[in-house]
Amino acid sequence: MAKKTVTDIEVRGKKVLMRVDFNVPIKEGIITDDTRIKAALPTIKHVIDNGGKAILLSHLGRVKVDADKVKGTLAPIAKRLEELIGKNVKFVANTRGEEVEKAASSLKDGEIMMIENTRFEDVLNNEVVKKESKNQKELGEYWASLGDVFVNDAFGTAHRAHASNVGIASNLETVAGFLMEKEIKFIGGVVDAPEKPLVAILGGAKVSDKIGVIESLLDKADKIMIGGAMMFTFFKAQGKNTGTSLVEEDKVELAKELMGKAKSKGVELLLPVDTVVAKEFKNDTEFKTVSVDNIEEGWMGLDVGAKTVEVFSKALDGAKTVVWNGPMGVFEMENYAKGTIGVCEAIAGLDAITIIGGGDSAAAAEQLGYADKFTHISTGGGASLEYLEGKELPGIAAIANK
Ligand code: ADP
Ligand code: MG
Repeated sequence: MAKKTVTDIEVRGKKVLMRVDFNVPIKEGIITDDTRIKAALPTIKHVIDNGGKAILLSHLGRVKVDADKVKGTLAPIAKRLEELIGKNVKFVANTRGEEVEKAASSLKDGEIMMIENTRFEDVLNNEVVKKESKNQKELGEYWASLGDVFVNDAFGTAHRAHASNVGIASNLETVAGFLMEKEIKFIGGVVDAPEKPLVAILGGAKVSDKIGVIESLLDKADKIMIGGAMMFTFFKAQGKNTGTSLVEEDKVELAKELMGKAKSKGVELLLPVDTVVAKEFKNDTEFKTVSVDNIEEGWMGLDVGAKTVEVFSKALDGAKTVVWNGPMGVFEMENYAKGTIGVCEAIAGLDAITIIGGGDSAAAAEQLGYADKFTHISTGGGASLEYLEGKELPGIAAIANK
């Protein structure tokens, strides 16, 4: 069902609570990647340009003891936001209290304020209370009392019911920001009503991480291609030798089951035909490409081979929607990056809706220079996985329907 967005409401003169995802990497007080801050700018700008008063909330990292609050402060993020948006951002170094309330009530139209890391509410005097992470009722009510309307633009936490998303939403009219809207449109689109044929390419480290996604896509996709370390569990299930490749022994039966299900549902399940094997798990070692039927003892598969890239590329032809989750090999090492590059290239060249859901796959596309060739790169790792699994995400469920 379509969700209400920030363009469906009047923000002028209103105190607009905004849950954003400013959970950026910070090393010794320096922000090393501000992509997430930039990604939130369109929604923030929309609110202030239309005369709203923006009150920003975000989490940053995990807070388990009081000492975590030192490096967990949002102060450097407020500074960076100021630079990026070219406007004053009033930062209040607290998550509640008089100063927060005063700042919120004295905010003028078009002004921005930001409160401290929402997860500071998880620890009080070194005691773990998890008011934010357990969605304590009083906290959601309190934050909601600071605003007139709530815009949720933090997709990365949508799979969790926290006070700063679901809690506030239980007390205020809630709409989606532009980022959230895009995730719902594309990731939600794959799950709800994909333009067919739908092809999924799944890779990455573990079958166990992706079982839910495979199961869910077996009901929707026309083809599923499997690469990454996952493939070896499937090869084991087919009785092939896998050498020292990563195999999840306790998932071999499941792999068999999944292959059976694919067959009975008429979904084409494609496995690699060749693999790049190496002597050790490092770039600087002997390696070669072999057929998946000829993996010898003492060799581990670290990428899919060139023939596989060809087979997968052909199978992608004519796809109308493609969802990619998980690299084809250990792309972080040059000698085992070709499979991921090849598949990335093939997807990028399609006339289709192309979606990446998965932190490492997104990083791979970015690192390889293909990021702008995709229709949508999801900003949420865990959230996009759960969404692709067909689960209802509490953060999205709490947004008003149109
Ligand atoms: P995503 O974050 O996109 O969902 P995953 O976290 O599941 O992806 O997996 C990414 C990791 O999988 C990468 O670090 C990559 O090196 C690793 N990987 C891919 N293929 C192999 C392989 N054959 N052997 C070991 N690790 C692999
Ligand atoms: Mg990952």
